[in-house]
Amino acid sequence: MKRRRSLPLLAGGLGLVAAAACAVSVQEERQLGDQYAAAVDTAMPVIHDPAVQAPLDAAVRPLVAVATRRDLPWTFRVVNTTDVNAFAIPGGHIYVTRGLIEHATSYNQLASVLGHEIGHVDLRHTARQIEKQRAASLGVGLGYIVLGREPGAAESQALNVVAAAVFARFSREDERAADHAGVRYTTAAGIDPHGLADMFHILQQVQGKDPGAIEQFFASHPMTADRIADVERTIAADPAARAAAQTGRKDAPVFHELQRAVHALPPPPPKPRNSP
Ligand SMILES: [Zn+2]
Repeated sequence: MKRRRSLPLLAGGLGLVAAAACAVSVQEERQLGDQYAAAVDTAMPVIHDPAVQAPLDAAVRPLVAVATRRDLPWTFRVVNTTDVNAFAIPGGHIYVTRGLIEHATSYNQLASVLGHEIGHVDLRHTARQIEKQRAASLGVGLGYIVLGREPGAAESQALNVVAAAVFARFSREDERAADHAGVRYTTAAGIDPHGLADMFHILQQVQGKDPGAIEQFFASHPMTADRIADVERTIAADPAARAAAQTGRKDAPVFHELQRAVHALPPPPPKPRNSP
């Protein structure tokens, strides 16, 4: 897999997701999710360094404790790229980029983004992607575009993961539902739920200084201002969220330990020439 695209953070969408019931079993979701995770490892610079993994796992523990689904082996990984991004694939595998961790300034911002991604998995948005992907055979189609031939088995798997993340964007309704889930989970975990809106504000500021890092984000998220307002309304309407915003944790030492470990990583591998 030579060509790599940055994947859209909290991907906004075109509202094309079918409302049909999800026919993918949990066993199937787990099995495919593990295959996809192996493919992401092949296609992207995923970090397996315990110095990074330990503080990341500690940072997400309070969120996983309040997640709805107990039938998945949740895994969280850092991807060594300066792109600012986070994404979930089926089976409870969630990825956050070095760029996002470096741009965040406090624990509750990272926690809110990860809460949003956990929401996509809990609400089975990611499981539904499996169905869409099957219907469209995106991986094979993308193989012809990228390779000019039918991809081999390993190539096909890697292409499928990238295709799923790039093309099978979530609907606007799914994004809103995941935003609300992020507010619920941070609130339940005793974390200030303003983190997601704060992260959006930071991205808007970074956009002025380093447009390349997040242009993909803004390309896929024309609704950012609306989403900030919606997150603020959701917090204001919920007494528990209002209380967490007042007294919840904004920061935690473990976040800064993670930032230091990420800063100490080798430089990200250069991006392919035709990457956006
Ligand atoms: Zn999302």
